Amino acid sequence: MTAEQPPAEQLPAETLAAFVAIVGEKHALTAPDDQAPYLTEWRRLYTGQTPLVLRPGSTEEVAAIMKLAHATRTPIVPYGGNTGLVGGQIAHNGEVMVSLERLNRVRSVDARGNTMVAEAGVTLASVQQAAEEAGRLFPLSIASEGTCQIGGNLATNAGGLQVLSYGNARALVLGLEVVLADGRVWNGLRALGKDNTGYDLRDLFIGSEGTLGIITAAVLKLWPRPKSKATAFIALGSLEDAGRLFEMAHGMCAGELTAFELLPRRGMDFVLRHVDGARDPFAEAHPWYALLEISSQQPDEAANTTAENMLMAAAEEGALADGVLAASLTQAADFWRLREMMSEVQLHEGGSIKNDVSVPVADLPEFIRRGMEAVEAVVPGCRPVPFGHYGDGNIHFNISQPEGMDKAAFLARWDDVAEAINKLVLEYGGSISAEHGIGYMKRDILPTVKSDVEMDMMRRIKAALDPEGILNP
Ligand code: FAD
Repeated sequence: MTAEQPPAEQLPAETLAAFVAIVGEKHALTAPDDQAPYLTEWRRLYTGQTPLVLRPGSTEEVAAIMKLAHATRTPIVPYGGNTGLVGGQIAHNGEVMVSLERLNRVRSVDARGNTMVAEAGVTLASVQQAAEEAGRLFPLSIASEGTCQIGGNLATNAGGLQVLSYGNARALVLGLEVVLADGRVWNGLRALGKDNTGYDLRDLFIGSEGTLGIITAAVLKLWPRPKSKATAFIALGSLEDAGRLFEMAHGMCAGELTAFELLPRRGMDFVLRHVDGARDPFAEAHPWYALLEISSQQPDEAANTTAENMLMAAAEEGALADGVLAASLTQAADFWRLREMMSEVQLHEGGSIKNDVSVPVADLPEFIRRGMEAVEAVVPGCRPVPFGHYGDGNIHFNISQPEGMDKAAFLARWDDVAEAINKLVLEYGGSISAEHGIGYMKRDILPTVKSDVEMDMMRRIKAALDPEGILNP
């Protein structure tokens, strides 16, 4: 927020009334009870305050809100499904909140052209379902998909489970409709695979976390649905074996390798302890595990045959300790549940410090080992649970508190622990935020990891598109 802006909690009565008039009283929330769900994020790390939650029902209403906000210099926080993990969707300083939940229509699906036009407030699960009903696949897949919205996914450039073969959100979109900070609407809903006419404005808004404009709709790319799939759960003797197995799987399966996830034994122990019905696929414990998915456009046993060949070759090379291919969809779902619950179960083990980082994939084994040593030096007895999207070089470097330690005392060490990880990340030329963005959590760290030239370019873009500094200040 720039110094001259009035704090939004002191919103003049006539401005507040003008905002309410745009969406109607029913969709302008002022009562604390009505606002409460919008003001806390799911881990309860951040709680906000706002004079007003607005729920516009159309792009025109979003445009009218931004026009008024621009004229009155009222700070605005766009709000999607509230699953963001860096606090960017919360009004931390009394900003007006704009929830996209009522822009929830799939405007059209073009199965032949492999595209869909969806409004920002459609949940990711609904986008996937609309694609499926048209016999197509929308490949973005994240554990929060039932709640997060496609607008939020694009605003954060979400990653998830199939980035390895389909790319992250940026790669899944052709065009955008965006309401600019001054209320103008940019209609960039073009369904073109190629368009080299000047700067790529679309890519500016993707990953900008609501700081440059409010995304109101998008042209999404669709794919043919795979005809066969194989899911393998693999036990590994060491992190180096994870590296060797990934190289082999990537080399042998190329574009068909849709997931390569890493799980540590400690995380497995947490899942087995806290998730009803979770079962260890192996009789013995192993230090690391990989969960692989292979998707094929060939029917029947095609994916299983590819997976079997790859596993046999890996076993001959000694790159795995044990491995099992899912024999049914239920068993595949059981394997995936072990991975999907890995973040949530940490809630049951006391405080958890979360880092979402990436380094070049070949450096992962060494980085993970050094990272574990580094955080154990900061908080002796802490329990690192590094897991996640190995194939993308992206690890959720989460750390659970030492057993018996006071939770608040552990969480008070968040910055020290994050600093130890981030220092290492930079040494490997990595990123301090692979998927989740900057938000409120990493805002102050950003200038320490970006060059002056990068910060200057970003500030100039922000000033050009949002001269009053009102969007997600
Ligand atoms: P919100 O949380 O509401 O908002 C996120 C940011 O985007 C905020 O800065 C907000 O201001 C802005 N924003 C929201 N909507 C718009 C819009 N229409 N226009 C402009 N700005 C907007 N993320 C991953 O990338 N990969 C994962 O694998 C993953 N797994 C997760 C698992 C769980 C259990 C949870 C809770 C979260 C996970 N996330 C993951 C994080 C989160 O789901 C994503 O960041 C998601 O894309 C956020 O979408 P949302 O609609 O909830 O956005």
